Amino acid sequence: MSYKNFPMVSKVIFGRGSFNQLSDIIEPKRLNTSAPFIFFVDDIFKGDAWLTSRIPLSYQDKVVYVSTIEEPKTEQIDQYVEDIILNFKERPSGIIGIGGGSLLDIAKAVAIMLNNDGESKDYQGWDLVKNPAVYHVGIPTISGTGAEVSRTTILTGPERKLGINSDYTPFDQVLLDPELTKDVPKDQWFYTGMDCYVHCIESLSGTYLNAFSQTYGEKALELCQEIFLSDDLSEQESQDKLMMASWHGGMSIAYSQVGVAHAMSYGLGYLLGVKHGIGNCIVFDHLEAYYPEGVAEFKKMKAKHNITLPQGICADLSDKDFNTMIKVALSLEPLWENAIGKNWKKTITHDTLKALYQKM
Ligand code: NAD
Ligand code: ZN
Repeated sequence: MSYKNFPMVSKVIFGRGSFNQLSDIIEPKRLNTSAPFIFFVDDIFKGDAWLTSRIPLSYQDKVVYVSTIEEPKTEQIDQYVEDIILNFKERPSGIIGIGGGSLLDIAKAVAIMLNNDGESKDYQGWDLVKNPAVYHVGIPTISGTGAEVSRTTILTGPERKLGINSDYTPFDQVLLDPELTKDVPKDQWFYTGMDCYVHCIESLSGTYLNAFSQTYGEKALELCQEIFLSDDLSEQESQDKLMMASWHGGMSIAYSQVGVAHAMSYGLGYLLGVKHGIGNCIVFDHLEAYYPEGVAEFKKMKAKHNITLPQGICADLSDKDFNTMIKVALSLEPLWENAIGKNWKKTITHDTLKALYQKM
């Protein structure tokens, strides 16, 4: 047995208003005045002076606003990298992502690709990155994905939706300021928050479970239950705790894996562009057979917050469409092995998945 030796986020700052310290944090990392910091920012913040006026810009530093209507794509990353190389004389001093999982993943991927040749699609998979990334910083503005701590950046490529999993992927610095999440719309808060809840359930009921994953997973689960089922928290406490739940949920899957909901949600995402958070909810709602207690509790949370999930999204799909989704889902072998065990292929077949997708 050989154990994996994982890198972690090297530095983290936590606190309401800590965003005001961003300049102090990154300025020592400036290589020289022509090596800029590039800020990738969710375009939902365009024109929002409360946030953008505090982005510390000097010399050639630049803000790139990014739409999150679609999840990050490999070609999009390649384009950003090309633009940076063409427009600046020197490699950036750092890449800073400000937003949800999409923006965090974009910052990680761009930082990696600035120091690695070729196209980002060639690095989708496990441990294919050769050179360390440019210094990169993650600043979440919505909580749940765990992308702020993870060793992956999930991209949709020409052939699959798959992460660039590598030792160079984790952020060098994360800034956790729960105040940045204050304007997240209710539905989106639930979908992205449930990503964390599903991470906990999939990790805690998986065959890969170990004390490392379990301790983080149990803490994250307890926080999710408090946030989504109790009435005792103020809004600020709830924001603070969800940010930490996301962190712990991400840490929990670092040393284990996700499971059925994620595998199937990747299929929906690849074919239909259904986004990660809501996709997990749509799938998880039908997984009683695999996660009976988790699904029952999820339904309580959904009812408490009056969330209505889309129905019938697979109603008009062709056999070819089903095949595409099923192929993507089945290709994620570690997820199935974690969820079901080494012999997962005996019970998880094309037909099992088709029957499940047909319910969604
Ligand atoms: P997201 O980044 O698309 O953000 C969701 C929505 O919330 C967007 O419409 C965004 O504009 C909005 N939003 C974000 N912050 C806001 C704020 N403060 N106020 C108002 N609106 C705000 O979605 P997400 O659920 O955070 O992340 C999903 C993405 O993360 C997917 O691309 C998924 O593949 C990826 N992901 C990555 C990992 C990882 O470990 N790398 C893990 C899970 C998910
Ligand atoms: Zn997830």
